[in-house]
Amino acid sequence: MNTTDVTIVGAGLAGLQCARLLGQQGLRVLLIDRKASLEQSIHTTGIFVRRTLEDFDIPADCLGPPLRHVTLYSPSRRSMELSSLHDEFRIGRMGRLYTRYLDHCLRAGVDWIPETRYSGHSVLGEHLVVRLDSRSSSSWVKTRYLIGADGSNSRVAKHLQLETNREWIVGVEDVFADVPLEGPPRLHCFLDPELAPGYLAWIAHDGEEAHIGVGGYPGMFDPALALEKFRAGLGKIIDLRHATQIERRGGRIPVGGVLRNISNRYGLLVGDAAGAVSPLTAGGLDPCMRLSTLAAKVVAEFLESQNEQVLSAYSGDLFRARFTSRLWMRRIAATTRQPGLIELACASLRLPILNRFAWHVFFGRGSFPDINFDLRRQVAVGAD
Ligand SMILES: Cc1cc2nc3c(=O)[nH]c(=O)nc-3n(C[C@H](O)[C@H](O)[C@H](O)COP(=O)(O)OP(=O)(O)OC[C@H]3O[C@@H](n4cnc5c(N)ncnc54)[C@H](O)[C@@H]3O)c2cc1C
Repeated sequence: MNTTDVTIVGAGLAGLQCARLLGQQGLRVLLIDRKASLEQSIHTTGIFVRRTLEDFDIPADCLGPPLRHVTLYSPSRRSMELSSLHDEFRIGRMGRLYTRYLDHCLRAGVDWIPETRYSGHSVLGEHLVVRLDSRSSSSWVKTRYLIGADGSNSRVAKHLQLETNREWIVGVEDVFADVPLEGPPRLHCFLDPELAPGYLAWIAHDGEEAHIGVGGYPGMFDPALALEKFRAGLGKIIDLRHATQIERRGGRIPVGGVLRNISNRYGLLVGDAAGAVSPLTAGGLDPCMRLSTLAAKVVAEFLESQNEQVLSAYSGDLFRARFTSRLWMRRIAATTRQPGLIELACASLRLPILNRFAWHVFFGRGSFPDINFDLRRQVAVGAD
């Protein structure tokens, strides 16, 4: 039976970031994913915010042109412009980015097994014996620590008896090339409780790619139908007559806030598996990068010291306090379904104080808090 220090389940952004950092520290790391290729079944628009781009090494050729303009639409399609003096967003070319990070992992000595599922594990003294299933066979690997980077419906979380996500929205989008861009690259956000109950419909167009999508609470809408209807009504805003559809993407987005119980002596959770997504904006890429970076430090320190106290630095309670206002706003978004009320809210965003709030939601520096990883003093830092 193969033995590893760390087995990481899931090679999305969270798993890849953990794997490359742990590999670079000389640990024996096994990374698996049920997908055959990381460029397949991508389920994110891939919008990175400025703070992530400043703090992490996202290669420039894995990013589209910058965006600094947002247009917000009310249910009756009255629009409001928000602009920043800075480049605020860039749409990641996610397939290329995953492949690049996988390459970093391989160069750091990480063992990579695609087309392989984590099915469960059993405890053997200080180790776990993890069962891996490929299409034709099963194998077992003995590991000192398990990382669940396996997305919003995490099997690892269940088997480690950690917390699991209970609230999510679903999103679906089409990605197009050859869409003419009028004016600068732009993010269009549509507040419309019929097309996107509890969230948004969007167009993110950077001049090279246009992503058109809808998101909302499952059970309250049919995402594919809503997307079709949304696309059909966009004639005045975007010209799709000569567009080439490249992909359809979609998936669940956990919006209940980062989970509290995300680590124990045998393993921990990162990314969507840990609920690390902004409850208000549903942005999960910045949290993926920050939480995975912390996770890699904690795991390396724990494996070296065998001191279980180290794991107390990895608790959702340290982050949740920073999300209180966003969790309240999520509750309001989840329960406000009347178009009239949303119309009124949009109109009131023209008042200077509320306009400032809207500006802050889109361009503010708030992101997932960084944890100062110091055993004696664990504090959350970073703008709210
Ligand atoms: C439609 C949509 C649009 C979004 N747009 C944005 C955006 O623009 N900006 C932003 O910040 N956030 C966005 N998000 C959220 C963001 O994409 C996610 O928070 C982030 O990608 C989560 O990354 P992850 O690595 O945790 O999970 P994932 O990317 O889901 O990766 C999990 C991996 O685990 C693998 N896996 C699962 N189970 C197993 C198993 N049993 N065995 C082996 N492998 C397994 C899966 O194949 C997958 O590769 C969006 C989400 C959706 C659904």
